[in-house]
Amino acid sequence: MLQRDDLPVLAQALEHLDGAFAGVPGTQAPDADALRRVLIDLAERLRDSYPFHSPSYAGQMLKPPHPVARLAYQLTQWINPNNHALDGGPATSALEKEAVAELAGLFGWRDRHLGHLAAGGTMANLEALWVARERHGAAPLLASAHSHYTHCRLAALLRVEHCSIPTDARVRMDLEATEAALREHGPTTLVATLGTTGYGTVDPLADLVSLARQYGARVHVDAAYGGYFRLLDDLPTAHHFEAASQADSIVIDPHKHGLQPYGCGAVLFRDPGDGVVHAHDSPYTYFSSAELHLGEISLECSRAGAAAAALWATQCLLPYETGGEFAAMLASARAAGVALYDYLDGTDAWLPVLEPDLDILVWAPRAPSLSAMSAHSQQLFDRLAARDIHLALLKTPVDLLGPQFAGVERDAAELVCLRACLMKPEHLDWLPTLIDALESELAASAGDAS
Ligand SMILES: *Cc1c(COP(=O)(O)O)cnc(C)c1O
Repeated sequence: MLQRDDLPVLAQALEHLDGAFAGVPGTQAPDADALRRVLIDLAERLRDSYPFHSPSYAGQMLKPPHPVARLAYQLTQWINPNNHALDGGPATSALEKEAVAELAGLFGWRDRHLGHLAAGGTMANLEALWVARERHGAAPLLASAHSHYTHCRLAALLRVEHCSIPTDARVRMDLEATEAALREHGPTTLVATLGTTGYGTVDPLADLVSLARQYGARVHVDAAYGGYFRLLDDLPTAHHFEAASQADSIVIDPHKHGLQPYGCGAVLFRDPGDGVVHAHDSPYTYFSSAELHLGEISLECSRAGAAAAALWATQCLLPYETGGEFAAMLASARAAGVALYDYLDGTDAWLPVLEPDLDILVWAPRAPSLSAMSAHSQQLFDRLAARDIHLALLKTPVDLLGPQFAGVERDAAELVCLRACLMKPEHLDWLPTLIDALESELAASAGDAS
């Protein structure tokens, strides 16, 4: 059920906000009947959605905003501030600076950093790579073959060469291949991913940072998906998350694991001096105050002040503390990933591709050949969707298939796998439901597979 008990809280907060504008004329209200008609029509159209808010949706990286984020965003829209400049959003610019300092604090940069929110991870990565090019020269970009697909596109946009670095057996950026590329290309920009989009794997950042230092490379960390896992100090890859504090720039997406509505990415720079790249003047703005206007350090111009308000409000309710309630949600997602892996690995019926680094699982039903496994994955995906359990499909190249696939005939170049993103705090409790459904659909489809 869609949660809506909290709407009276919004009305109350709105009334409080309204008190500030008692002396100015208001706006015109639209015709209530026309409004209702359009909204009901819209609700009808929106019914054509997967249940993104529910644990029964575990396909792509979708996590519903926390109610406090949804309400804070809505409340702020009544005044609709623009965080480009203090002229457009004095209150929300202050909230953004505080919220960004909390994000920077995840990586030990709270007191000294440059950073701001962005439309999303892609825009934030674009800005970080643009600054890298301006500060460090148009050297090639070295990124894992499993880094987000947009890095290749961004390199083309920035007119820098993109070198795809092969990964090891755990789908992590290969250290020898990275060193070879560094030796060949010199002072490049190295992009490490903490939580790849396909498999959720974590590049060996602690080792990559020392290699980069040795060869004079700049380090950018794409932690759009995984950044918040920095809060879990018992993660097997915790030392790689810790090493992010030595990077030059970091991207983290509050709209992925940070309980925010879409439109909330963030870019952070360790050296505030990187801000010289943004230097510009604007004849229209920046007149209300000599203090820093966020537009002076941002590639984008207009940005939603509401996004900053939502993030700030969420951080007030759920501070980023190791062992705190917010961290417990990530620990629960991680525990769900481990539990699903243990189940899959413990039966003959399934072949997991990898032990998960975070909360993303990729696996396929066992069959004599890759092509039969692929067909069966597709079938199970459809059967599960028919009972309102939504996973994703992912094509795994054969060279990623480990020794557990030894007895399977390699009659195809890739294997179509099932993929689950167990991002939601409810996923751990929902796991038995998923496992029951997997088992019963596997049994039911055994007949049609032959
Ligand atoms: C999602 C993601 C991106 C892109 O971010 P958007 O917010 O979708 O633009 C980049 N890198 C990684 C690792 C991601 O998971």
